[in-house]
Amino acid sequence: MDSLRSVSLGSRLPRLERQMLWQHVLQVPRAWLIAHDTDALAPAAVASFRHLEDQRLAGTPMAYLLGYREFMGHDFQVSPAVLIPRPETELLVETGLDYLKGRAAPRVLDLGTGSGAIAISLALACPGATVVATDLSYDALSVAQGNASRLGARVEFSHGSWYHALSDHKGFDLIVSNPPYISAGDSHLTQGDVRFEPITALTDGSDGLSALRAIIQGASQWLVPQGALFMEHGWDQAQAVRQLLHQACFEQVASLPDLAGIDRVTGGIYN
Ligand code: GLN
Repeated sequence: MDSLRSVSLGSRLPRLERQMLWQHVLQVPRAWLIAHDTDALAPAAVASFRHLEDQRLAGTPMAYLLGYREFMGHDFQVSPAVLIPRPETELLVETGLDYLKGRAAPRVLDLGTGSGAIAISLALACPGATVVATDLSYDALSVAQGNASRLGARVEFSHGSWYHALSDHKGFDLIVSNPPYISAGDSHLTQGDVRFEPITALTDGSDGLSALRAIIQGASQWLVPQGALFMEHGWDQAQAVRQLLHQACFEQVASLPDLAGIDRVTGGIYN
């Protein structure tokens, strides 16, 4: 009869990933695994584990196998229809929250929401806000909608490409976005977890700046005077994004570094 110990002996997975998959299969806390190392396992559980292990060894991201990823202290359900929330994207949320501080009932827009991680985190941290989130993908919107209702966040979802998703013209105090910003030829697209993520959430299929450009150029019609726009971008795009913001008449244009010290979020105030 197989036990955790006997199955683990033959496994090529790193220990932590193995434990996470077992926790998922058996629906137990980590401590249980340690206390029950030599217990006999049900054959169905072993089969489930081996199936997940094979997928992981073939490169499927852990978040897709487990079905969730933690972001801003909340568990977001994810599927291959959405980008897996990244730790560096928490900087975008924190920057948005800083701007919203002291505003009682701000209107917030998240363009290309994916799993909804950004919009939902903002809505939960700022219950007085009206948050609208868009996506071009119906599948992504359904993941985001599920996350919002499970986490108890009030977010209004809307389908379409960037501002085309919006119908009324009420001004937003804050626009945030983590758009596809990897350029079409970037070798990162063929490496690691990224290979399994939706390509349209990663690259614009062009120079990496076209989505950022569209978001910046359209923002003036959707922001209230003194409203803010903040975007996540690639490691080498901060200067280009600042320039685009200046050209579009934004002020107080600035970039902020992520935990690795790389300028990752750039934004400004529309005057
Ligand atoms: N930061 C992500 C990555 O490096 C890309 C996210 C995006 O394109 N918006 O894989």
